[in-house]
Amino acid sequence: MARAAESPVIAPLLEWFDEHERPLPWRRSTPWGVLVSEFMLQQTPVDRVLPLWTAWLERWPTPTSLAEAPVADVLRAWGRLGYPRRAQRLHATAVVLRDQHEGAVPEDHQALLALPGVGEYTAAAVLAFAFGRRSLVLDTNVRRVVARTVGGAAEPTASISAPERALAEALWPADDARSARWSAAVMEFGALVCTARSPSCLACPIQEHCTWVALGQPVAATGSRRQPKYDGSDRQARGHLLAALRDSSEPVSARTLARTWPDADQRRRALTSLLADGLIVRSGRGRFALPD
Ligand code: SF4
Repeated sequence: MARAAESPVIAPLLEWFDEHERPLPWRRSTPWGVLVSEFMLQQTPVDRVLPLWTAWLERWPTPTSLAEAPVADVLRAWGRLGYPRRAQRLHATAVVLRDQHEGAVPEDHQALLALPGVGEYTAAAVLAFAFGRRSLVLDTNVRRVVARTVGGAAEPTASISAPERALAEALWPADDARSARWSAAVMEFGALVCTARSPSCLACPIQEHCTWVALGQPVAATGSRRQPKYDGSDRQARGHLLAALRDSSEPVSARTLARTWPDADQRRRALTSLLADGLIVRSGRGRFALPD
């Protein structure tokens, strides 16, 4: 069956990308470098990831090198990037790659999905950005651009629906290389131009094709989704306690941790959840440490 003609937004947006693409190092890296970047970029901005990614790849240039490092070293190297379970899962993924994939990142959707911490988005991103394959890379930025240009809505829905996937399926170029380039282009465009709060519509290369603008930019039905406050949260308590353990070469006593985070209820919840996540372990009576 003949495929429908390519959407008129593709060519101008690819031209825009040729001119404005940021020189991000993982775009010229190995599949392992791409996979590491995708773990780090989950919920974390590019400028915070850049220095850590570079140091990480110098220290652990292959999955096997990371798999052989102690988890405590991996958590220390992750430092203050946040959401430290990503570090733990990246280490677990490296172990699977070493033990089941001869130390390489597989070029296979199902095999990628089976890795710890790899979901639909990450598997699709690795296929596109590491292997130049056609796959629907639907992160927040991409979904916003598709929602506006094709769907005429200010923001995408809370979760990806079957109709949204069908829309993306029809929009993505058929050719592998062009599709992979398009995935990177639309993601960059959503991050730099078609942003959540202040899209640069006047300078937009696809404005004439934008359904949302044609409809007079109707406001989002649900309002914007805000990140929960970090200051004073249980998440911040976890971060402080974990930092105290990272900064110590010895197990840390509960009394010392009490000085790190004085609120006893929050401290108890944070310690319980860190233990449950396997990010810390008990080490003797009333003492805690990073796992080996
Ligand atoms: S016209 Fe505005 S809303 Fe539409 S794609 Fe361009 S930047 Fe985004």
